[in-house]
Amino acid sequence: MHYTRSSELFRHAQCYIPGGVNSPVRAFKNVDGVPVFIKRGKGAYLYDEDGNEYIDYVNSWGPMLYGHAFPPVIQAIIDKAKLGTSFGAPTTMESQIAQLAVSMVPGIEKIRFVNSGTEAAMSAVRLARGYVGKRKIIKFAGCYHGHADGFLIAGGSGLSTLGIASSAGVTESATVDTLLASYNDLESVRSLFRKFKGEIAAVIVEPVAGNMGCVPPDNGFLKGLRNICTHYEALLIFDEVMTGFRLAKGGAQEYFKVLADIVVFGKIVGGGLPVGAFAAKSDIMNELAPVGAVYQAGTLSGNPLAMAAGYEMLRAITEDGTVYERLERKGQYLEDGMTALFRKYNIDFTINRAGSMCSIFFCRGKITNFETAHAAANDMFTRFFNGMLKNGIYLPPSSYETWFLSDALSFNDLDRTLEAVDLTIRQF
Ligand code: PMP
Repeated sequence: MHYTRSSELFRHAQCYIPGGVNSPVRAFKNVDGVPVFIKRGKGAYLYDEDGNEYIDYVNSWGPMLYGHAFPPVIQAIIDKAKLGTSFGAPTTMESQIAQLAVSMVPGIEKIRFVNSGTEAAMSAVRLARGYVGKRKIIKFAGCYHGHADGFLIAGGSGLSTLGIASSAGVTESATVDTLLASYNDLESVRSLFRKFKGEIAAVIVEPVAGNMGCVPPDNGFLKGLRNICTHYEALLIFDEVMTGFRLAKGGAQEYFKVLADIVVFGKIVGGGLPVGAFAAKSDIMNELAPVGAVYQAGTLSGNPLAMAAGYEMLRAITEDGTVYERLERKGQYLEDGMTALFRKYNIDFTINRAGSMCSIFFCRGKITNFETAHAAANDMFTRFFNGMLKNGIYLPPSSYETWFLSDALSFNDLDRTLEAVDLTIRQF
């Protein structure tokens, strides 16, 4: 494999775009590499500008449940585009996708569509504060909820109860109401509720954390959060930008049988177009303008192309009774295969997986929170990533990211992936 053209394109991009990319992780900085420039994707495969083919485990960071260029989604976009791309006025497709989403997800009655997961999480927190009438929120170290100011606080060594901004340009006043707890540690949540009695509006959590590598919730963690929030009259917000429509038709609420008060969506709900959404029971959602006092808006929100793409994706899921079983089987097959290989070669590893989300940590011991996930951000991952890329497997370029399996992957693709793992380890 050579990357001549990607290297040239990256040099050119860096002249005009900061770091050559429109979102930082794409730059392959964590893995000391040059990003491959993608020309097209079809099903389970990506093709780069140098003509290399890859089996894709990024899937645009989650949206491509059925793989790339999924025909019903592409056709819907083409058909809609011919009618005009944006009106800033209501269209029928908005209520159709809203009705469909509400029918698929437990515990929600109304949904509002926005343009990204960032917007959705930001708006969900504003809504929670407006509804509850309190200021503070709890987030977990290592969970990511988009790049709105209030979420950009450091996790890292030890817990800090008051937020410290982890990005230049974020003021202390923007993060002072964000409290940090430790993932899978209910006591860290309880102690914040005790300390800030009567001040906490909501707890926001990734029901399966996917932004410190894949870290599933321990048994009872989500249920415990539910009970704590109910007890202290705070709202529980599930950020299902990754897990929504991926773990199950009804997302993590269905998968773990725990109901949240507000649910945040992104990725799959837009079928690969820029969409986010947040949803709840009507009494909460009716706090939003124009009905209620919590303002939230968007010129391109509910965009016809995006809604048509999302609708086709959700419709395909609804009509397909077995997609999550298939994904589970494929996930299990990959996990078993990799486990056997790492054991065979005596490599320290931990694989975390929930359905079609998984990741490998190159260290011993359980990875249950941000602190333990740090241990795996090592040179071994970098070598593994680069070896896999050379062997035709496109993985997320950081140990802090989750792999996403698509239904387009065949068992033959999974076998080819395992062969690449074998080859990569032997080339270490
Ligand atoms: N929440 C979670 C759980 C996410 O994983 C992400 C992005 N990966 C976001 C929010 C932000 O979504 P977006 O990148 O669409 O703004």
